[in-house]
Amino acid sequence: MNKDDIAQIKQLLYTPKNIIIVPHKNPDGDAIGSTLGLYHYLKKYGHNAQVITPNDYPGFLKWTPGEETILKYDSQTKACNQAIAEADIIFTLDFNAFHRTGAMEPGLEASKAIKILIDHHQEPDDYPTYMYSDVNMSSTCEMIYHFIDMLGDTSEIDETISTCLYLGIMTDSGSFRFPSTTSTTHRVVATLIDKGAKNSEIHNQVFDTNSYNRLQLLGCALSNLKVLPELRTAYITLSQSELNRFDYKKGDTEGVVNYALSLENIIFAAIFIEDKQEGIIKISLRSKGGFSVNEFSRAHFNGGGHNNAAGGRSESSLKGTVENFLSILPNYKDALNHG
Ligand code: 5GP
Ligand code: MN
Repeated sequence: MNKDDIAQIKQLLYTPKNIIIVPHKNPDGDAIGSTLGLYHYLKKYGHNAQVITPNDYPGFLKWTPGEETILKYDSQTKACNQAIAEADIIFTLDFNAFHRTGAMEPGLEASKAIKILIDHHQEPDDYPTYMYSDVNMSSTCEMIYHFIDMLGDTSEIDETISTCLYLGIMTDSGSFRFPSTTSTTHRVVATLIDKGAKNSEIHNQVFDTNSYNRLQLLGCALSNLKVLPELRTAYITLSQSELNRFDYKKGDTEGVVNYALSLENIIFAAIFIEDKQEGIIKISLRSKGGFSVNEFSRAHFNGGGHNNAAGGRSESSLKGTVENFLSILPNYKDALNHG
């Protein structure tokens, strides 16, 4: 984001505005942390700010400060549509294209509000009036920190904002271990702790609040794990009936794909999760090193994301989707073995 853009945004935010802040569908820690972090910052300037998520999010995020103010588009559509219609500014955070908001897409598309994108996914669309896009960033939360810094306002970052931003940097960086974690990321996180983020408590809230059923579901997923050593690939499936058996709740499968990637010599991991309600197979892809799961997902599974973490979907059956995956993989044998 250049100096002119920052000056113009500063000018815009000089007087109170109606501001909507939107993350992607199925919000994760970075989506919730970045939208609420920005929300608390804007509230300090007297803006009428409102976070609208396309749908609900996992229970392990439901302690985040300000979480109770969030409107959910799928269950509070009328109130959300009204807020969108009255918005002067819409911040779109942690996604690159309106279709990532599901049913919110047409309303966002039609809105005449000023749009400000802050995001670290590849290939952002051209809808934004102002765009802060950087695929090298660990998280959108880290970008919100830099955004507030560019506005000359780090002194406004208090314990509440720090807590929100710490959450998303922690979850999107795999607790500070993915290659996107830089020395700057650590400096930002150190500052957030200085400003009041209780790092150990945040880790506990997110990672140590499992239900018994969630761990049993993980056991089921691990027993479904398949390994293809010659393709350095491992994958996991979860059928709807397996999810039902362990009383699946949103977020219960978060991170499960990483177990497949943790195998020695494996650089590509996938999980296929049946969703009978939506009539799709939700796919999560992860890789290590140069093999781009973003490109793989864009080419074959209607999705995208980052080089080492991407999502996608398939409209065939669970069995058909896995067969399709297995038929595509040999084309990547060289890339997987030398990537
Ligand atoms: P997950 O596998 O956890 O759902 O997603 C991994 C990463 O890819 C996240 O950063 C997520 O935002 C992104 N992602 C997931 N699904 C899609 C998709 O359909 N399109 C794009 N562009 N990104 C996605
Ligand atoms: Mn993110």
